[in-house]
Amino acid sequence: MSKIRKYAAPLALFLLAFLSVFATSCGREHVHEWGPYEPFLEPTCFVAGQERSVCSCGKARYREISVSHNFVKDRLDIENRATVYVCTVCGTEQSERLTTDEAGMPIVSLDGPVSGMTSENRVPLGISYEGLESSFDASCFARIENRFSPSFPRKDYAIELEDGGEPYTVTLDGKLGEAGGFSLIANYIDSSSLRNVLSAKIYGEIAKTRDKDDKMSRLVNCGATDGYPVLVYLNGEFLGLYTLNVTEDESGLGMTGDPGEAILFANGYTDQSILRAPLSDNYEHEGIELIYTSGDDKGAAIDSFNRMINFIDVNAGFAFKHGAGGHVDVERAIDGMLFTYLTGAVDNVSKNILWVTYDGEVWIPVPHNLSGTWGLKWDGDEFISPGTVSPGHPYNELWRRFSESYFYEASQRWAELRRGPVTVENIERIARELDGMISGDVRDADAATRSEHLTADKNNVEQIISFARENIAYLDEYYGYIG
Ligand SMILES: [Zn+2]
Ligand SMILES: [Zn+2]
Repeated sequence: MSKIRKYAAPLALFLLAFLSVFATSCGREHVHEWGPYEPFLEPTCFVAGQERSVCSCGKARYREISVSHNFVKDRLDIENRATVYVCTVCGTEQSERLTTDEAGMPIVSLDGPVSGMTSENRVPLGISYEGLESSFDASCFARIENRFSPSFPRKDYAIELEDGGEPYTVTLDGKLGEAGGFSLIANYIDSSSLRNVLSAKIYGEIAKTRDKDDKMSRLVNCGATDGYPVLVYLNGEFLGLYTLNVTEDESGLGMTGDPGEAILFANGYTDQSILRAPLSDNYEHEGIELIYTSGDDKGAAIDSFNRMINFIDVNAGFAFKHGAGGHVDVERAIDGMLFTYLTGAVDNVSKNILWVTYDGEVWIPVPHNLSGTWGLKWDGDEFISPGTVSPGHPYNELWRRFSESYFYEASQRWAELRRGPVTVENIERIARELDGMISGDVRDADAATRSEHLTADKNNVEQIISFARENIAYLDEYYGYIG
């Protein structure tokens, strides 16, 4: 290698550096070294601003800052599913799609043609669920669920999830867990929207204090339908503040197809639903609906139910106490009775009861449809006074036998419950927790979808707590509980 080639590269670099210093000092070939952009002219609501970057040589360059509002959150536009922001300077509004976090509760959207949907005819719809803990998009079958009040302007919906014709299971929020479907309940008579869920939770707490290991004890709320508030939209239209509730069918009640399983629903006030007369073959017109039997033999479930009615009818005193457990779960039945007195549920004393059996012999009454609780009458237009639904007036033949033969047991049980979940403080805690999920904006939008019934200034959490306090005092006196 020659000396020339060895030194050529370093020499070239030296010459380049020399030339560039020479060029700078001559004021030619200056390369700007721009500093960071800094605010120069603040934008306003209507005029763009500027920011500036400067070089050491004194040159400056500019770039535009687009017009800028000072947006703050103003309100939730529940009807249009939006969060609305307003500029504090000029009043310009800007909307963003309402999120569940802003709403404070899950949002359910149903989409698709619903013209053929009735209580018998289910229709396929798309469903989007945006929960606080989980979300999903699926297809589903939906039908109207108001069994007895299909004329109510706000409908209940039964939702069955499916995916390509196969059942589809999702995880719901809270303690509801896995489900292949659920009910969307409008709580049409109850503008507080608190009663059905609050009451189910209270029944669950009551029933769970029994030291039992039956199928019912493993269900959320021991079979009473748990739920939570949701906003429901159908094809973009706001239907209202609903509650999403566990479906009260065989799966919701933990049935597995074992022989003997059956569910009846007392849906009317009849001689049969008050357990005074047995069902005939025409039972569908006698206030009792057969919801499920594990086998094809519907008659077996009806016969078993009739054996219970006949037993209650002909046995009093010792004979009743001796044999009642062969036909009815006495502990759960006493709990259901005390729960109904506690909540002043005048519409649940003989109807709105699910009669459930897991073995085809022993029936368990589960309170159902709990909107008319804490004194609210079935029509949603007025309240009954505390003490109106009283153990002094047995409303059905089973409770008549209880009042004759089980007064001591009922009093003992009341005392036990008073040392447990049945306190004003506990009821108030659950009620306020639910109520706290529902913002004023949601209340206002929901009220706009209701045209009748007691409105929120009367039907609210304060009424529930006040009713609970007075009714508990009444029952304490009746059952001789001193605390
Ligand atoms: Zn420069
Ligand atoms: Zn502005």
